[in-house]
Amino acid sequence: MSYTVSDKVAVVTGAGRGIGKAIAEMLARNGAQVICVSKSADTCGTVAEGINAGGGKAKAMPVDVSDGAAVKQACEDLLSEFATIDILVNNAGITRDGLLFRMSDEDWSSVIATNLSSCFYWTKGLARPMTRKRWGRIVNITSVSGIAGNAGQTNYAAAKAGMIGFTKSVAREFASRSVTCNAVAPGFIETDMTASFVESGSEAIMANIPLKRFGEPADIANIVTYLCSEESKYVTGQVFTIDGGMVM
Ligand code: NAP
Repeated sequence: MSYTVSDKVAVVTGAGRGIGKAIAEMLARNGAQVICVSKSADTCGTVAEGINAGGGKAKAMPVDVSDGAAVKQACEDLLSEFATIDILVNNAGITRDGLLFRMSDEDWSSVIATNLSSCFYWTKGLARPMTRKRWGRIVNITSVSGIAGNAGQTNYAAAKAGMIGFTKSVAREFASRSVTCNAVAPGFIETDMTASFVESGSEAIMANIPLKRFGEPADIANIVTYLCSEESKYVTGQVFTIDGGMVM
C-alpha cells in the first residue's frame, strides 16, 4: 500500500532506532523528505545515511527533545532551510520504570520532559507554517499505558495520557486550518525499549495479547504513514491502538 506523502517534508523524532526508524524509512519510501531526529548523532546519522543510500531523501538532526531551548533553535533552523515542515511525528520517548514510592523526582521529570513536553516544544515550533499553508499532519506516539495505566509506570502513563489530551486539543485548535493531529498507542513492539520483556518471553504479557505475538515497528509505521498522508484528510483527534487486541 502506498500513501501520498511525496513532496512533503517530515520531522520524525526518535528516528534513530525502533519505531521511529521504521516510520522515517516508510515515509521516505513513500516519497517524503525526512528529517531524522535522535539524541545521539550516530543513530539518526546512520538512519539518514541508509535512506539516502537507498535513493530516498533524509537529513540527520541530533537534538535533545527534552530541552525546550534546543528544540526551539532546531525548529527555527528547519524553517529557515525548508519553508514549511508538513509532517511532524512526535515519537521520541523513554521509560524510567519503578513503583511510585521508589520513583525519584528525576525519573518523574525526565519521562514527562522527554515524552510529553517535547510534543509541546516541537508542535509550537513547527505548526504555524502548517496552519498558514492549510495543510499539516501531526502524529503523536503515545502508549496503551496512557490509556489503561500500568503498575510501575506512573511517570510514563501520565506522560502518555497527557499526550492524548494534547493531541485532541491540538486537533480542535488547528482543524479549521486543515491541520490534523492524531495519536497512535502501541502495545508491545519489539524494539530496544522492550528487549528485556521480549527476551524473557514474558508469558504474563503474552497471555494478554489476543494475537499472541509482539508487534513489529512496521505495524506502527503503517498506520503512522497513513495518518501523515493526503488520504487521512478526514481523520483528526483520534487515538489508534495497535496492540494485537490487548486493550479493547
Ligand atoms: P527505542 O527503541 O528506545 O528508541 C527511542 C528513540 O527515541 C531513540 O532514537 C532515541 O534516541 C530517541 N530519544 C530518546 N530520548 C531522546 C531525547 N531526549 N532526545 C532525542 N531523542 C530521544 O524506543 P521505541 O520502542 O522505538 O519507542 C518509540 C516510541 O514509541 C516511544 O515514544 C515509546 O514510548 C513508544 N512506545 C513504544 C512501545 C514499544 O513496545 N516499543 C510501546 C508503546 C509506546 P537515540 O537513538 O539517540 O538513543
